[in-house]
Amino acid sequence: MAGYATLRANTVAAETTDLAAHGTHGVLYVVATPIGNLDDLSGRACTVLREVDTVLAEDTRRTRKLFHRHAIPTPTRPFHEHNEREQTSRVLAWLLEGKRFALVSDAGTPLVSDPGYVLVREARAHGVAVHCVPGPCAVTAALSVSGLPTDRFAFEGFLPARHSRRLHALGKLADEPRTMVFYEAPHRIVDALADFCAAFGEDREAVIARELTKRFESVVRGRFGDLLAQARDGRIPARGEIVVVVCGSEASPDDEEATDAMLRAMLDEGVAVKQTAAVAARLTGRPRNLLYRRALALEATRTRR
Ligand code: SAM
Repeated sequence: MAGYATLRANTVAAETTDLAAHGTHGVLYVVATPIGNLDDLSGRACTVLREVDTVLAEDTRRTRKLFHRHAIPTPTRPFHEHNEREQTSRVLAWLLEGKRFALVSDAGTPLVSDPGYVLVREARAHGVAVHCVPGPCAVTAALSVSGLPTDRFAFEGFLPARHSRRLHALGKLADEPRTMVFYEAPHRIVDALADFCAAFGEDREAVIARELTKRFESVVRGRFGDLLAQARDGRIPARGEIVVVVCGSEASPDDEEATDAMLRAMLDEGVAVKQTAAVAARLTGRPRNLLYRRALALEATRTRR
């Protein structure tokens, strides 16, 4: 029990002296806030947000709602992607004078597809203490309920909005063996799922996690072909905030070599790249787009020889 009492005492001390420990030195806290449910703000986040001099907020009106719920009276200052660079030099000067700031974004963890990178980099470079107050993040929230492997994963943020660029970006990820996590805007979800089908194949498993921690939270798992059909007919509504979690590629290096050998054999026999890809797609079940790009690359090295 004594051990527990000491641990508890130390924990409480850490919770309450967060700011006191910094005395007259400036400090920057990077504070995670809820991704929907306002009650997901941690106790420590609440304490830090109450005690700093100023909170840098992506959208001050949105942050005010959170502050209202938790009775946080601290003044806010806008800090978003359009003023990050200009604000960074001002905030840095105040930090060096000893002021205490917290950085929050509209939802979840700052710097995860949100502003703050320039400020954190500069603060660190100038010897300012930077501390995290961890908490919600749509990436880990979606992964945790996806039922897809979470031992290794790759966060890809937002895909390009333009179809050709998005397809190109996805094409480069088709053989990624880790689980992948994407953020997607609701009005693009149908087009994005069509591109996922083209790049990864209709049979690849994925999860669409919508409105996590909110009233209409839904987590739908299925193969891309089926998810696209559900998004097209509205069973997966094109509304709310969306994370797409995608199962990594199961193709092994042996499969890759065997596929390359098949493509090379057809190209050597004079079969056109397009037909080569189409035949290989039927034989291997792998996406035609992916095989087309691979066949093009092999053809280029073949003709250079
Ligand atoms: N920094 C945030 C975080 O820690 O997750 C993410 C900010 S990013 C600009 C916003 C995107 O995160 C949304 O477009 C959506 O893809 C995802 N997101 C945020 N909240 C979500 C929620 N409650 N459910 C599903 N996705 C969410």
